Amino acid sequence: MTTSKDKLHSVHSWQILLVMLLLCASILPFANAETVVIPSFSQGSLGKHTQYFRERDGIISLEQARLRFASDELTQGNSNSISLGINVDPVWMTFEIRNTSDLGQLYRLSAETPWLDYIDTWLIRDGEVVKYVAGGDGYAFEKRPMAYRYYAFEYVYPPGVTQVIMRVETLGPMAIPLQFSSVENAINRDINSGYQYGALYGIMIALALYNLVLYFFIRRKEYGLYGLYLLGFVTNSLSYTGQLHTIITYDFGPYFQDWLDIFLMITYSVAGLHFARALLQTKEYAPKLDKFVLRTTLYIPLGMLIGFVFSQLFFSMVLAFFLNTCFVLLFIAMGVRALYAKKPFAMTFILSSVTAAICITVSTLAVAGILVPYNDYTFKAIEVGMAVEAILLASILAGQFRKAQIDKLVAEKFARTDPLTQLNNRRGFHTQIKPVLASIEREQLDMSVVLIDIDLFKRINDQYGHHVGDKVLQAVANSIKQACRGSDVIARWGGEEFIVLLPNTSQEQAQFHAERIRVAIERTKCSELPRTHQISASLGVAGSSYHIFAGQSVSQDCVEVMINLADDALYQAKTSGKNQVQLAG
Ligand code: GH3
Ligand code: MG
Ligand code: MG
Repeated sequence: MTTSKDKLHSVHSWQILLVMLLLCASILPFANAETVVIPSFSQGSLGKHTQYFRERDGIISLEQARLRFASDELTQGNSNSISLGINVDPVWMTFEIRNTSDLGQLYRLSAETPWLDYIDTWLIRDGEVVKYVAGGDGYAFEKRPMAYRYYAFEYVYPPGVTQVIMRVETLGPMAIPLQFSSVENAINRDINSGYQYGALYGIMIALALYNLVLYFFIRRKEYGLYGLYLLGFVTNSLSYTGQLHTIITYDFGPYFQDWLDIFLMITYSVAGLHFARALLQTKEYAPKLDKFVLRTTLYIPLGMLIGFVFSQLFFSMVLAFFLNTCFVLLFIAMGVRALYAKKPFAMTFILSSVTAAICITVSTLAVAGILVPYNDYTFKAIEVGMAVEAILLASILAGQFRKAQIDKLVAEKFARTDPLTQLNNRRGFHTQIKPVLASIEREQLDMSVVLIDIDLFKRINDQYGHHVGDKVLQAVANSIKQACRGSDVIARWGGEEFIVLLPNTSQEQAQFHAERIRVAIERTKCSELPRTHQISASLGVAGSSYHIFAGQSVSQDCVEVMINLADDALYQAKTSGKNQVQLAG
C-alpha cells in the first residue's frame, strides 16, 4: 500500500533511465506461458505462467469464467506480478500445474500483497472442482485459509494436471504477485524474509529509541520527531507487508485492514515532514513552504477522517497515496530550500531524501506494474532506502549535536576570557585555580599571589588615546605571560590590574618571580608609544610562608586573604615610588 499512480507524474528522466535498466534485466529471462511442472518447479513467481481477463460487465460465475478461459480473449501475464492499478475491475486468472512424479506434491500457493480484499481459488481436475479456497483481507484473520500475512494455502497436488482458477477483487492497488513453492521452500523464504525485515526494523527501532531518549533528556523537538518518524515507518511497513495483521487480528468489518493500513501509512509522512521542519528550521527562511507543509499534514489526514466517517475507502486511500507522494517531493523541496539558505547539513539531507525517493519510486512502480519488474528486491527497495535515509539523517542529528557541544564549549571559554588580553577574567581565574588549590591542599604545598598594577596608566590614555591604552594593556599582558611559568595562573584582575597565582611557591620565591615580571614589564615595547615613554608597574606579593597555613587547609578563603594582603603590599609599592615589588607583612 506504499504505492500510488500519482507518483508516476513525478518521474524524472534519470529515474526512467534507472527503471529501463532494471526492465532490461527483467526481460532477459522472459518465459512463455507454459504449464507449471512440478516437482521440477520448486519455487517461483507464476505471473508469466498466468492468463487473465477482467470482469468488466458485472459479476460472473465460475462456469462463465471457464467459458471465457476457453475463448482466446485472454491476456498473457508478462511479469512476476499482475499489476493493473487502483480501483480496477476484478481479475480472473488461470494456470495449470502438472505433477510429473508418481506422488502427490505438497505446495503453497500465495498472493503476496496483503491488501487484496477477496481472493477465490478453485482447483479443478478432470473438469471437476476438487478444492475451493476463499480468503483475502476482506475476511477476518481467523477466517482466512492460513494464519499467514498473505492469502495462501497449501495443497497436495496429485500426479497429473490440475487447473487453477483464481478471482481477485480489491479496492486498492491490483498487484497480484503469485508465488508457488514447495512448502519447504516457502518456509525457508519466510525465515529469510524474517531476518531481512528484522535487520531493517532493528536498525530503525534502535535509532528511534536512541533519539527518543535524547529527546527525553535534551528536549529538542527534532530528536523526538525523528524517533516518531522512524517508529511510524516501521509500523507502516509492518502494516503494508501484512505482518502487523498477524498480531492485530481483530476484525471490525471487511475493510478493517485497509483502513488501518492507510492511516498507519500517513503516520510516518506526517512525523517525517514535521521532523524536517524542525531540523531545517524552514519557518525562518521559507515561511510559505513551511506553512504549506504544515497544512498538508493537517488537511489531508482530516480529509481521510471525513472519508472514514462516510465510509469512502477509495477517497481516503487516494488522499493517503497523495500525501505520501507529496511527502517525498516536499522532503526534497525543503532540502533544496535549506541548501539555498546555506543551512548546514542541507546537502546530506537532500542526499538522504533523494535516496529514499528513488527507492520508494522503484517499489511503487514495481507494485503498480510499470517499468520496474516486481520481485523481492524491488518490493523491499523502500525499506532499504528508508534504512539508508535513517542512517544519513542520524548522522545529521549527530553532527548537529556535536556542533551544539562545540558552541557550548566556545561560549564557556568566552565567558571565562578577557576579550582584550585573552587572559582569564576573574571568573576564569576562579575556575582555573580550583584544581590547583586542591592539589596544593593535598600535597601541603606553598603558594603565592602577585598583584600587578600599571603605573600612571591613566596618563597613557589621556596623552595618546584610549586605543593606545588598549595596546599597552595587550603588550603588558604578553610580557607577564612570557615571564611566568606554565603552572602559574594569570588573569586580568581589573582595568590595568593583573594577578598571578604561583603554586608551589613560597613568598620568598615569589618575590624573585615578581621581580622578573616587573623587569619584563619595564622592557615592554609598544609601537604606538613614543620610545621615550617608559612603561612600568608596581607589584604586591603575598605568599603562604608569610601567612600560616600549617595544619589548616588551603581554601578559596586563603586565596582571598592572600589577595587582600597582596593588595596592601601593592599600595605600599605605589606610595613608595612605584615600579617596584613589595612583600606583604
Ligand atoms: P596608578 O599609577 O596610581 O595606578 O595610576 P593609574 O593612572 O594607573 O590608575 P588609575 O586607577 O587612576 O587609572 C586607571 C585607568 O585605566 C582608568 C581607566 O580609564 C583605565 N582603564 C581601565 N580599563 C581600561 C581599558 O580596558 N582600556 C583602556 N585603554 N583604559 C582602561
Ligand atoms: Mg595604575
Ligand atoms: Mg588602578
